[in-house]
Amino acid sequence: MQSANVQNDNQVAVARSIHDYDRFVGPAMINNLKLLADRLKGKVIQNVNSTSVGGGVAEILNRMIPLLRELGVDAHWDVIKGGEQFFQVTKKIHNLLHGRLDPISEHDFEIFMETSAMNIREVDTYGDIVFIHDPQPIALVKKRNNKKESKWIWRCHVDVSKPDPRVWKFLKKFIEKYDASVFSAPNFSQKLSIPQFLLSPSIDPLSDKNIELPQETIAAVVAKYKIDPDKPMITQVSRFDYLKDPVGVIEAYRLVKKHIDCQLVLAGGTASDDPESAVVFEEVKEKAANDPDIHILLIPPGSDIEINALQRASTIIIQKSIKEGFGLTVTEALWKGKPVVASAVGGIPLQIKHKYSGMLCHTVEGAAFAVKQLLNSPEYAKQLGSNAREHVRLNFLLTRHLKDYLLLFLSLYYREDIVNL
Ligand code: UDP
Repeated sequence: MQSANVQNDNQVAVARSIHDYDRFVGPAMINNLKLLADRLKGKVIQNVNSTSVGGGVAEILNRMIPLLRELGVDAHWDVIKGGEQFFQVTKKIHNLLHGRLDPISEHDFEIFMETSAMNIREVDTYGDIVFIHDPQPIALVKKRNNKKESKWIWRCHVDVSKPDPRVWKFLKKFIEKYDASVFSAPNFSQKLSIPQFLLSPSIDPLSDKNIELPQETIAAVVAKYKIDPDKPMITQVSRFDYLKDPVGVIEAYRLVKKHIDCQLVLAGGTASDDPESAVVFEEVKEKAANDPDIHILLIPPGSDIEINALQRASTIIIQKSIKEGFGLTVTEALWKGKPVVASAVGGIPLQIKHKYSGMLCHTVEGAAFAVKQLLNSPEYAKQLGSNAREHVRLNFLLTRHLKDYLLLFLSLYYREDIVNL
């Protein structure tokens, strides 16, 4: 087993100023954020998760920490460590929370607890508010002092609408030791003895992943990956994970291809806390069977401009997930004004109002039907894209998310004031 090394804040991206967001949300919102942040002066907010790159959690923390700091909040981000075995177990836990059958043994739970014990020993939980993300670091709560001077929040980013009962029971023991829990969508809420907050995630319109790009940059990325600039391009950006159903995407593409000449881009990377991705990547390559119009791209972490360019170059973005926490890739595509076809799972229906800000689907055939319809009706596709961008502007930008988090942090103290009155 590796030893627990805590990575301290050094991966945090360089922020733009909070005032740069005026042009998306208006100055009143920025003033609100400042007022709320002022009330947290003197409090240290410590975020803890299990990876600094790959996946939606790292993506959000990377953008949020610098802005919280600019607002005057003393925000930090630490990463727990674990060996391969630990991450294999946490991947099983992830799959089982999403309702996928993946046998888990008592020995797996022991491995989880062994690495947790090491992290409990070695990770300094110095925050006035300790904000733990997802199941991997959940057991750190055992470390909280008995006087409960610090506040602990567990933030669940995964779809727990139908969790495996055994895994949920195991996690619940820890969850109920926290002061509050946060889920991404109303249908994920669970019976718990602690308060639950339902907060959707967000994207940063000024990050490399989402910022406007010059046409030459987009063209250069398309050329780099040998994608035909003149053929309709259907893209799914996702880690190579069964729950993202890349094989289902290939099947949908094949149904479309019978009628319309098009190409498919599957762009993904691997996350250091996901040991399954290499296997899925191989399966996807096999399924593609050397079709020259299927581009399977392994994108290294940190290639945000490339992901951005691929999304912008696409005619249609698809996200055929079987389960999804929230689906930031969908938010990113909607923000770029793209017509999106995505499964009605997890937080996706919050983002896509069917036939208004995109198309929801439930099957391979349904996905193919929607893609064909959009390819055949460019004006309709454009209208969906334009509605989509406005829906994201109003609901899923980083500033709204910052406001929700500041209110959440404050509410922990406010509740206490009420009790002490
Ligand atoms: N992502 C990336 N490179 C990849 C695959 C995904 O940068 O190769 C990003 C993607 O753009 C999004 C995040 O990782 O910002 C994935 O978040 P999402 O909520 O869609 O899924 P998760 O991976 O957290 O299940």
